[in-house]
Amino acid sequence: MAQELRFDGRTVIVTGAGGGLGRAYALAFASRGANVVVNDLGVSRGGDGSSSAAADKVVDEIIKAGGKAVANYNSVEDGDKIVETAVKAFGKVDIVINNAGILRDKSFSRMTDVDWDLIQAVHVRGSYKVTKAAWDIFRKQKFGRIINTASAAGIYGNFGQANYSAAKLALVSFTETLAKEGAKSNIHANVIAPIAASRMTETIMPPDVLAALKPEYVAPLVLYLCHESTEENGSLFEVGAGFVAKLRWERSKGAVFKADDTFLPGCVAAKWNEITDFTNPDFPSSPGDADFVGLLEKAKALSSN
Ligand code: NAD
Repeated sequence: MAQELRFDGRTVIVTGAGGGLGRAYALAFASRGANVVVNDLGVSRGGDGSSSAAADKVVDEIIKAGGKAVANYNSVEDGDKIVETAVKAFGKVDIVINNAGILRDKSFSRMTDVDWDLIQAVHVRGSYKVTKAAWDIFRKQKFGRIINTASAAGIYGNFGQANYSAAKLALVSFTETLAKEGAKSNIHANVIAPIAASRMTETIMPPDVLAALKPEYVAPLVLYLCHESTEENGSLFEVGAGFVAKLRWERSKGAVFKADDTFLPGCVAAKWNEITDFTNPDFPSSPGDADFVGLLEKAKALSSN
């Protein structure tokens, strides 16, 4: 029997919580005692329009079920206003789930500056603005949990999503840096690449697949990562359809060259198999994990041969 992880007294901001994954997170946190700020600008899939209806509907659902929630209708680009709503309604904020998102899929040759800029604005700047507004509160109270939302498209690239994949991978490195800076203040940041049935995916997958991809199957990982007892920090997970897995960087052993003017493109060609050989790899997790001093010594030894 799994332990029940509760969030009584915790205040959670879930952005883009008027539908899809965000709604599932908001309902799950509220059912476990959290105060929830249900943020949603109520836009179309591509980011057009605005409406308070989406956030209101989820707040109603939470309150009818006996939970505590307030709505916020700002864009995530005005993150300070969302944090203000949390502080006004509940006196603080403990957890930020950066989930709001839009899509403007087009092949790269057809992509416009507007398609590029809007995607960066909502996903990257939006996640930055909400997190930035909560950061000092987290530092002062020595507690904070952040979830950022990447995507498999960001990790692997995907046809028609140059704008979206660039934004989504940016959120992985944003998370890795927040985790390093926040650790000493008990601020943990993790990032997920979810897969779930929502209006974002309903046109690209058949109904039987969509039925297996309930947003509710992503929420357990998100809640676990945000619990006060969870130590995990700075990690990336793929999650969906009941599958949860952690990803990490892998570096080949690599090749060392004489670091002098004999180091020519042909030398790279000659050692290409070694450079790309993943037998006995490293799994670096910080810039300091490359043993550059050791490598320099090896290179020097080669040079003096
Ligand atoms: P969704 O379209 O159902 O929900 C996104 C919500 O964000 C919408 O309710 C929308 O109104 C809101 N929103 C958009 N722009 C906003 C803004 N500027 N300010 C505030 N709210 C805004 O999509 P979803 O599938 O639930 O996606 C949630 C997140 O998960 C997104 O970041 C998406 O990129 C990511 N994601 C989803 C999948 C998937 O399979 N569904 C896969 C990978 C990543």
